[in-house]
Amino acid sequence: MQTEVRLARPGRFDTLANSLPDPSEGEARIRIRRIGICGTDIHAFHGRQPFFDYPRILGHELAAEIVALNGPSELNAGDLVTVEPYLNDPTSPSSQKGKTNSCESLRVLGVHLDGGMRPEINIPISKLHRAASASVDQLALVEMLCIGCHAVNRSQSNEADNALILGAGPIGLSTLAFLQTRTKNIAVADLDEGRLQFCREAFSVDHTITVTPGKKMEPSLRDAFGGRLPDVIFDATGNRGSMLSTFEMSAHGGRVVFIGLFQGIVEFDDPNFHKKELTLMASRNAVSAEFKEVIQAMESGQINTDSWITHRLHLDEVPGRFQAIISAPTLRKAVIHLDD
Ligand SMILES: [Zn+2]
Repeated sequence: MQTEVRLARPGRFDTLANSLPDPSEGEARIRIRRIGICGTDIHAFHGRQPFFDYPRILGHELAAEIVALNGPSELNAGDLVTVEPYLNDPTSPSSQKGKTNSCESLRVLGVHLDGGMRPEINIPISKLHRAASASVDQLALVEMLCIGCHAVNRSQSNEADNALILGAGPIGLSTLAFLQTRTKNIAVADLDEGRLQFCREAFSVDHTITVTPGKKMEPSLRDAFGGRLPDVIFDATGNRGSMLSTFEMSAHGGRVVFIGLFQGIVEFDDPNFHKKELTLMASRNAVSAEFKEVIQAMESGQINTDSWITHRLHLDEVPGRFQAIISAPTLRKAVIHLDD
């Protein structure tokens, strides 16, 4: 009997037998091969994910193989796919405007309903994206990269922009990977020198800024951008203080994109916002076309994620090792294996 791993309550996983109905009309049954662990899973484990019900099967960054399809599709059994885990209502006003990523009744796999920490799962065929040559490791990183891809698409960045990324965790790195396809003038700031070193080594970022709480970043930014301030700022920290600092650090006419989420009220200085005529955007999830865009960027070699995965474990090891892995100081990205 194959087992599934369920987060029973904060801090505790249990295992149970995986039983699954046949796929409904329009669904496919897929066999899970790899699962990326992300901040959402970590917050859920610690009991810090708001509006989260336990027990819940986690896992929304999925690389899988199609077992069977119930309905017409260009896909075939045996295809390797990644899953777009944002299950929207196609009749909702936002979905009809193309904003399937922020639908009024959005349910995210592994968050609002059971996800992929199990051998097999049924998924709407429309939420599967096929790889031509991407590996299962690459496919497990697609959803994470989509977050950065969507933020960069929202920002409409181009080669004339000086851009700043706040936070060099997985989402900051995903943003960086796509931003580098738009502009060469990029600075990355983080509290952690090890993360910045990775940006210099793996991405050849020239300007990295070690954040010191209480110290203004403006001089370092002007150094990096020939005396100017950034035209685009991405906040990938979800830290209130970091988010608040963006208005002050932005160039006049600048754009600010909040990718990170702070669970509370963020106040801002309106005279500064008005004087600079800033544009502030939220960036949430990603749309279908961006899944294709990310897979293509990986397959063409435009984006190389070879050195991103630092930790691996098998699904059976999740109850015993999850906590140690997410606490590892060297953690960049952890991936769960169901195959080998
Ligand atoms: Zn994720």
